[in-house]
Amino acid sequence: MLFLVATPIGNLEDISFRAVRILQEADIVACEDTRHARILFERHGIRPRRLVSYHSHNERSRASELAEDLRTGATIAVVTDAGTPGISDPAWAIVREAIMNGVDVVPVPGACAAIAGLSASGMDTSRFVFEGFLPLKKGRKKRLAAIAEETRTVVVYESPHRIKRLLEELKAACGTSRKVAVARELTKHYEEFHRGSLAYVSLAIEQRFPDAVKGECVVILEGKGASEDEQISTEAESQTDL
Ligand code: SAM
Repeated sequence: MLFLVATPIGNLEDISFRAVRILQEADIVACEDTRHARILFERHGIRPRRLVSYHSHNERSRASELAEDLRTGATIAVVTDAGTPGISDPAWAIVREAIMNGVDVVPVPGACAAIAGLSASGMDTSRFVFEGFLPLKKGRKKRLAAIAEETRTVVVYESPHRIKRLLEELKAACGTSRKVAVARELTKHYEEFHRGSLAYVSLAIEQRFPDAVKGECVVILEGKGASEDEQISTEAESQTDL
């Protein structure tokens, strides 16, 4: 069996009993960074049987080695540095190998920055799009243009040192009044949300961090026309009340 085990995105308590048990029992735990994983293992008294590295630079070659282990009956648990494996993180190659070899792939759900940020963003959560990281150069403008036209809520990952630039680009693509929420340092001591128009939030972030933004961020953007839709449905609701 191949288990995809979600791990905390900051707060080490955000892990399930089941995840701890599987990490303890698996024949092999494949981690993005073994040193990083050890911090979590120590906190929960997990003593993995065998640890191997599995990261973006060795993903393909390691996936075929691990597939061989799966074929011979080993149980493997995959963890990444934070959150859910496969969500803007390695896992895809080994998941594909496992499926091709008829091995069961079992998700062990838990933290995911996109879902945590979205759930508290105040945006419409009934329909949303996960954009992950935007391309750094080629194709970036096209993606921004598509995001601007998207009517569902859009979730974007961005590194701290590029967050100001992303907000400026979104302002240019979507207009200054489009609503946005920036969730920073989720589940950590300094967790905070900046919510409001793109104009307001980009100014608030600039004032809060005149130099470099510290801490990881998720950006949750309101879909195009969502505010007007909300107004229409609120008006319809109050007419029904009458
Ligand atoms: N697999 C992870 C998940 O399930 O969320 C995502 C890993 S991806 C390499 C890292 C990105 O996730 C960061 O750049 C940031 O956008 C987001 N992220 C991770 N931890 C976060 C946190 N504690 N607060 C806000 N965003 C976070």
